[in-house]
Amino acid sequence: MSTPAAEPSAPSWLAGATSALGTAYEQGRMPHALLIHEAPGTGGDWLATWAAALVLCGRGKAAPCGECTACRRVASLHHPDVNWVRPQEDSRQIRIEQVRELTAELALTSHSGGYKVGILAPADALNRFAANALLKTLEEPPARTLLILVATEPSRLPPTVLSRCQRLRIRAPGRAESIAWLTAVRGKGGWDAALDTLGEAPMQVAQADPAELAEVGTDTRKTLDALTTGRTDPVAAAERWARSQLPLRLLCFENWLTERIRNGERGGTLLAEMRAGPYLSGAGPFLNIRELFGLIDEVRDLRATLDVPLNRGLALEALFRRLAPVGGVRNGVQG
Ligand SMILES: [Zn+2]
Repeated sequence: MSTPAAEPSAPSWLAGATSALGTAYEQGRMPHALLIHEAPGTGGDWLATWAAALVLCGRGKAAPCGECTACRRVASLHHPDVNWVRPQEDSRQIRIEQVRELTAELALTSHSGGYKVGILAPADALNRFAANALLKTLEEPPARTLLILVATEPSRLPPTVLSRCQRLRIRAPGRAESIAWLTAVRGKGGWDAALDTLGEAPMQVAQADPAELAEVGTDTRKTLDALTTGRTDPVAAAERWARSQLPLRLLCFENWLTERIRNGERGGTLLAEMRAGPYLSGAGPFLNIRELFGLIDEVRDLRATLDVPLNRGLALEALFRRLAPVGGVRNGVQG
């Protein structure tokens, strides 16, 4: 984890952010609190780790050296002065007790005689009480403290918390840049198809098997296309999805809907009117944008509640029926 240019695995699209942070640190302008606002899967945790190494590195000035004991400990998540706060598994929230523990830890003298770092990831998992508890530390941080909040949806945090953090925005890189980076880090692979499945989330794609991603993605889009033209049965398709790779398929479903909106915008074929009824016409090119956004919300809701006991098959079937053309499924056709 040395300078971004010398480190082949450093995400190229974060070079601007690391350079800005490095300069701020070198000039003694390091903020007490950083909010890393990342597009999903674009490296918020990586940048938080880099920033922690920056302030703890024994050698580097504008960038961590990547070789000293401190840098290696930060990278392996074993540095005693770096405290990661993650949502508790059962609740998917960061709770007030966790923030109190962090505050107490940050108040102690650092092990290495330098900075103490607290990283909340994802910070949008802070519940209301936890966010309020964090506010006290943000208002009066102990000297040489760095708090890093990593969030994909910072609007879920109170404005009082947001206003006390310096914001760093990470946007998703373009497709060509993602593929170049993935190829450099993981070698040649079906990265284009993998990104089609997961969306523009190269850091997330890097941790997956591209062949498997591509296969699930192709199959998922084939089913969705078949549903819009009535060539497959919503009940059978819903049962099949509920049995295998459901979280990934839902993410792909969301990307498929987003892609339809983009194509509709480019082609000028979106209908903005508020009519009810089928949003897609299998034969015609017109889409109802209100229905599309409504469907995206519902797919997201389903993704967010996957660990809650519910009949996934039924919920999926209801979504699939909204894709079907007028007249429903043609008899005798299976997907
Ligand atoms: Zn170092």
